[in-house]
Amino acid sequence: MMTLVSSIDSAETSRAPRSCDLAIVGGGILGLALARELTRRHPRLSLCVLERERELGMHQTGHNSGVIHAGVYYQPGSLKARLCVQGAHELYAYCAEREIPHEVCGKLILATELSELPRLRELERRGHANGVPGLERVDAARIRELEPHARGIAGLHSPATGIVDFAAVARAYAHDAMRDGARIATGCEIRSVRAAARGVRLEHADGATEAAHALFCAGAWSDRLAVMAGADPDPRIVPFRGAYLRLAEARSDLVRALIYPVPDPSLPFLGVHLTRRMNGEVLIGPTALPVLARDAYRLGRVRAADALQTACWQGTWRMLARWWRPAVTELRHAVSPSAFLRAAARYVPELRVGDAQFAFAGVRAQALTRDGRLVDDFAFSATPRALHVRNAPSPAATSSLAIAGYVADRAEEAFGLVR
Ligand SMILES: Cc1cc2nc3c(=O)[nH]c(=O)nc-3n(C[C@H](O)[C@H](O)[C@H](O)COP(=O)(O)OP(=O)(O)OC[C@H]3O[C@@H](n4cnc5c(N)ncnc54)[C@H](O)[C@@H]3O)c2cc1C
Repeated sequence: MMTLVSSIDSAETSRAPRSCDLAIVGGGILGLALARELTRRHPRLSLCVLERERELGMHQTGHNSGVIHAGVYYQPGSLKARLCVQGAHELYAYCAEREIPHEVCGKLILATELSELPRLRELERRGHANGVPGLERVDAARIRELEPHARGIAGLHSPATGIVDFAAVARAYAHDAMRDGARIATGCEIRSVRAAARGVRLEHADGATEAAHALFCAGAWSDRLAVMAGADPDPRIVPFRGAYLRLAEARSDLVRALIYPVPDPSLPFLGVHLTRRMNGEVLIGPTALPVLARDAYRLGRVRAADALQTACWQGTWRMLARWWRPAVTELRHAVSPSAFLRAAARYVPELRVGDAQFAFAGVRAQALTRDGRLVDDFAFSATPRALHVRNAPSPAATSSLAIAGYVADRAEEAFGLVR
C-alpha cells in the first residue's frame, strides 16, 4: 500500500508483550497521542501499542489534508468544538517545542452565491461561540488581497488555521511514548478480544497479550473491535474514500494558503477544498465516496467482509435514500477529475482542465447509526475493562492532544488509575 509516512525505525519497535497493564490498539495519531499522554501521567504503568501494519500511521493519519483546523464549523458545546480549539492550541505549542515544521497560513471560507450567506453567517456565529481566534468577515476586495486568484462575494478568514504533516506529528508522539517507557509493536493485528482472568486478552499475529485494561483507537476498524469486546454494533463504520488531485507546479501560485467552500452543516465534509501542503504542493479535494473496502486507497477495491457489513447495515440505505443527490455528485467527481476541477474553478476561476492530476486518496472512518445518521461528534464507548474511540473523523488529527487528555481522564476514572 502506498504510504506518505516515512517509518519509525523498525529497530525501535518491539514484539508484543505477553502481558501489560494497558494495551492501546491502533498506532495512528490517536493511539500514539494516548500512549504519550498516559506514559507521561503514569511512568510506572507498563503500556504497549499494538498496530496491525508494519509501520505506524499508515491509514487516516498518513492520508489526509494536513490542515490544523481552528474550530470554525463545529456545533458550539460539542466535543469537536471544544477539543478542536484546545487541540489546535496545544498542537501549535507541541510543534514549536519539538521543531516539527508547520505553518499558520490561514484559511478563507468563500461564499460565491447569495444563497450561501445565511450559512456563512451561521459559521461566523459558531466560530465566535467556539472561541476561534481572529475570525474575520471579509468582502470581495479583502478576498482578492488574501487570495488574488480566488473569487467570492463574501467570506470568513480564519488566520489561526494552519498546516502540518500529521504523520510527522504521530512519529513524534511515538518517540515521546517510547522514551517514557511504552513498547510499540507493529505487524500485530488484533484478531480477537476476550475477557480474561485479570483483564482483556488480545489475540494477534504474534500470539496473545493479556492486559489489565485496553484502549481501542482502531480508526476504520473501530466498530469491529468494539463489537468483539462486547459493545453495541451501533454505530457502524462506513468508509468514505477521499481522493485528491495535485495542482501542476507551474499553476500552484494560484493558491496561497487554504480555500474552502461554505459547507452544508449536515454534510460538513463535502465540498472541494484547495489546500497548500507543507511541501509546497497544492491539493484539490478530497472527494467523499462511500466505498466497499476500509482500505480503498485504490478506486474499485472491494473487500467482501467490508462490503457485506456496509450493505447489511440499515443505516447505509437510509443514508443513501436521504443523500442520493450529493452521492451522485461525489460519484461524478470521483470518476471524472475534470468535473472535480470544474467544481474547484467555482472558487479559483483560472483553474483549467489539465491543471491537476490524481495525487493520492485517504479513507475516512465515518460512524453511521442504524437510522442513517452520520455521527457528527467524536464518540466513545465502554466495555468491561476497555474504552473505545468509535468516531474520530476530522478534526481528530488537529485535536489529537486534547482527545488524548480527554480519553486519559476517562481511562483514569474507569480503570482506577491513580497518579
Ligand atoms: C481524506 C481525509 C482528510 C482529512 N483531513 C484532515 C485534516 O485536514 N485535519 C484533521 O485534523 N483531520 C483530518 N482528517 C481526519 C484525521 O486524519 C483522522 O481523524 C485521524 O487520523 C484519526 O486518527 P486515528 O488514530 O483514529 O486513525 P488511523 O490513523 O486510521 O489509525 C487507526 C490505526 O488502527 C490500526 N488498526 C486497525 N485495526 C487494528 C487491529 N485489529 N489491530 C491492530 N491495529 C489496528 C490501523 O492499522 C491504524 O494504524 C482527514 C481524514 C481523511 C481520511
